Amino acid sequence: MNKQDRALTEQNLLFRGVDFSSIEYMLEHSSVRKLKTGEKLLQPELTNEFLYLILEGELCVHLAAHRTVEHASLVAGECTGEISLVDGKKPSALVVAAKPTRVLAVPHDTVWSLVDQSHDVARNLLSIIAGRMRNDNSALISSHNQRAQYEHQATVDALTGVHNRRWMNDAFPRVLHRCTLNGEHSAVMVIDIDHFKRVNDSYGHLVGDVALKSLANIMQLNLRPHDLLVRYGGEEFAILLPDTLLDEAMSIAERLRVMVAANEMDSNGLTFKITLSIGIAPIAGKGSLEEFLGAADRALYRAKENGRNRVEVAV
Ligand code: GH3
Ligand code: MG
Ligand code: MG
Repeated sequence: MNKQDRALTEQNLLFRGVDFSSIEYMLEHSSVRKLKTGEKLLQPELTNEFLYLILEGELCVHLAAHRTVEHASLVAGECTGEISLVDGKKPSALVVAAKPTRVLAVPHDTVWSLVDQSHDVARNLLSIIAGRMRNDNSALISSHNQRAQYEHQATVDALTGVHNRRWMNDAFPRVLHRCTLNGEHSAVMVIDIDHFKRVNDSYGHLVGDVALKSLANIMQLNLRPHDLLVRYGGEEFAILLPDTLLDEAMSIAERLRVMVAANEMDSNGLTFKITLSIGIAPIAGKGSLEEFLGAADRALYRAKENGRNRVEVAV
């Protein structure tokens, strides 16, 4: 090994706190390897018999399961190949040179002899592996959090923050099934803003959006915790009221209607009011969600026909 490589090797994490001159002779079977950019050093399908100490350059680590995503990058002073060193299995990652890189390839036998010889080398190796585990754990946690976030985004309406129709198709049938099993009555309402086109036409689409947001907010605040509100379509909402008799559902709908009609919406100092038409369908016994929503929709249509700003019940 030349003088420069010796100095670079001595600086590797594996030899931190180690009297390098006392163990240097053990590296006689180690050799320097040069890698071009893009050259693979470790591959999950190929057995690895070396611990590689990075002298110069940079390596990219891609986990076997996510080859396209860079998991970590390793630079001079770090090493790679330690997992297959310890468990004797094929590498857990694909490791590729991110730029021209030089590594010292230390045979596994040599590493174990170094561990036997020096407690400091052993401690350093453990600390390198612990660091790797910590890194992998935080990657796992962040990918888990990311997945949870995607799932949340897929079921929540971005504008109003209430659940969307996709969520409804999953959640409502489950609740309906439970109500049927318990012999509970429930009800579903479909709510549509009256002449909402006029709001958009008079004040603009952004003001229309503000109205949709405040409406969702008012309804959410005035429902019971177990009522399920969803944005059903553009300016339509649906609410499932579990364990609720028809009379109760009617008074909840009427309360929402009156409250919304009286509420002054405010968008940048521009004030206006909206009204709602609501159709209710009672749910008792068996039937599909589509049937109950269809019945509520027909009742809503009658509310529109009968003058809007009113509640109608399915017949
Ligand atoms: P009706 O009383 O018969 O329901 O009249 P309407 O004008 O409310 O009904 P229509 O279905 O003709 O129009 C609904 C309008 O809702 C049309 C569309 O531009 C608007 N709309 C739907 N989604 C959104 C949205 O996300 N933001 C805004 N600003 N407007 C929306
Ligand atoms: Mg509509
Ligand atoms: Mg409408």
